[in-house]
Amino acid sequence: MRIVLVGPPGAGKGTQAAYLAKNLSIPHISTGDLFRANISQGTDLGKEAKSYMDAGNLVPDSVTIAMAEDRLDQDDAGQGFLLDGFPRNLGQAEALDGYLKDKGVKLDAVLDLEVPEDEVVKRIAGRRICRNDSSHVFHVDYHKPKTEGVCDICGGDLYQREDDREATVRKRLEVYHTETEPIIDHYKAQDLVVTIPALGKVDEVTRRAMAALGKGE
Ligand SMILES: [Zn+2]
Repeated sequence: MRIVLVGPPGAGKGTQAAYLAKNLSIPHISTGDLFRANISQGTDLGKEAKSYMDAGNLVPDSVTIAMAEDRLDQDDAGQGFLLDGFPRNLGQAEALDGYLKDKGVKLDAVLDLEVPEDEVVKRIAGRRICRNDSSHVFHVDYHKPKTEGVCDICGGDLYQREDDREATVRKRLEVYHTETEPIIDHYKAQDLVVTIPALGKVDEVTRRAMAALGKGE
């Protein structure tokens, strides 16, 4: 299957992408991983991307699109893939359409993870991370540490990352609305969009998505 996963920050997109890709036996292709791989391997595209990032600028779509196409050209993506974080705007979606058309293949579905905006803010802004180990993650409502501000695992200080502050989250949501949401209408016109309510437990959301793809048990 060829799938694109979209959803606002805080919808649990990365986690769902990993589970769905595993269940469907297709590679999970995330933009974050593409950038990291190209930069760490020192590819021409990686060097180009890094020069923009080092200067504090956005990486142009042409670079992101070329990285995605390179990755989709690899053998393991020949029978299917799950894209996570790409396309993130209309220009990238149109480029992907063109690429797939050239290959004579089509997307099977665009899964749109839906969460109420206030819930997204609550999820992200409530996160508290341990200063000793960023994998020690707590939440002021959903996963409270035994003692406020102290990591249950190692006793380290818990803090809120700059990225997780409410104002930052609202800004990221705004960017999502203006840049990414138009691709949902673009794919609706192709009758590809399946909306998945993304509240609830991780495995429940995965089950909903699998059922929507006709892969339910
Ligand atoms: Zn800790």
